[in-house]
Amino acid sequence: MAIKILNRRKFNKQLAKGIGAASLMSTLPLACTSAGMKQDKQLGIALVGLGSYARRLADALQETKHCKLTGLVTGTPEKEKTWGKKYNVPASNIYNYQNFDEIAKNSAIDIVYVVLPNSMHADFSIRAAKAGKHVICEKPMAMDVKESKEIIAACEAANVKLGMGYRMHSEPYTQEVKRFAKEKTFGKPLFTTSGAAYKMRGNPDQWRLKKELAGGGALYNMGVYAIQCAIYGTGERPLAVSAQEFKTDPEYFKEVDETITMQMLMTNGVVANLQTSHNMSMNDLYVSCENGWYRLEPAHNYGPIKGVTSNGVMDFPVVNQQAEQMDDFALHILEGAPNLAPGEMGLRDMQIMEAVYESIDKGGKRIDLDLVEF
Ligand code: NAD
Repeated sequence: MAIKILNRRKFNKQLAKGIGAASLMSTLPLACTSAGMKQDKQLGIALVGLGSYARRLADALQETKHCKLTGLVTGTPEKEKTWGKKYNVPASNIYNYQNFDEIAKNSAIDIVYVVLPNSMHADFSIRAAKAGKHVICEKPMAMDVKESKEIIAACEAANVKLGMGYRMHSEPYTQEVKRFAKEKTFGKPLFTTSGAAYKMRGNPDQWRLKKELAGGGALYNMGVYAIQCAIYGTGERPLAVSAQEFKTDPEYFKEVDETITMQMLMTNGVVANLQTSHNMSMNDLYVSCENGWYRLEPAHNYGPIKGVTSNGVMDFPVVNQQAEQMDDFALHILEGAPNLAPGEMGLRDMQIMEAVYESIDKGGKRIDLDLVEF
């Protein structure tokens, strides 16, 4: 069975081209058609930290409908010129880490997207909130649970919205898997496995290998995807976790974790077996249910994502995940659409990851989880 949907971007493109517009419009709910007026507004986004992922986001912002790139924040003066020119951002909208707080006065910038090394997420997310800007914070949310709570508190105090850079929640295959989990399409989930890993090489001084800048290793960088998969893939809530760490290259990975295996007990008796590493490749999600199964592989790269179920191959459009994610967050602000990856989700994942490290420290002991409700 091929399962097909028409996702929002494709749907909008078809409307723009006038393809089947009359028949499509007749199926639109009233709220959606009247909201079309508001959708003309594009929110301005400032990227903070102009590294490799910010480059991907800047390119994605050339495709977004509800937001656009209007600001840049960098510690490298050369990038002010090169990025400003390439992305047509005027000097008046370009800041450095010292004068960043002046962004408060800039009405062209509605959202600050923090794409810095993990140790700087809390500082810049909190400063952005204090400047009255909505915040998108990259994963992992911060260095620890305490910082994650501080980000949430700052956004609440400033009455601004907070979203995580969890792009998969805006991706069609992932959204379908979330629907399977919610509607129990294949019956009750029983077991899930997910791996999130890649082989890291190169400069031994890169920030991801430094505890002070990264906070954690493979777990913070990739393991968070496996944890996310287990939760959205089953729709269940983790109750307890046990974990083990293995180092096959202790010299290169001397400050942070290289390879971790985790087992989670979840609500309704679901068992999760998860793996993460910076020394091998893994990229999948599998959920075994009472009446069938579903699998994504790859499950969390930039795409195309591929999926198959016990009923057949899944078939969805390939999307620009980052563009979809930022548009979804803009629609959350503009129209009150659901926040697909709220700050509490980032906090929850930090709570799980702290428990993973605690379990490893205690020789694989089961750690019961007391997770934030949202
Ligand atoms: P990167 O190393 O390519 O870029 C980091 C940027 O931060 C650079 O512009 C660098 O100049 C700047 N910086 C400021 N202070 C620094 C310091 N003390 N040390 C090093 N760099 C410093 O990293 P990246 O891959 O762009 O990752 C940035 C963030 O984005 C991380 O939190 C990462 O987890 C996240 N990320 C998310 C995804 C995703 O798919 N959601 C993908 C990649 C990265």
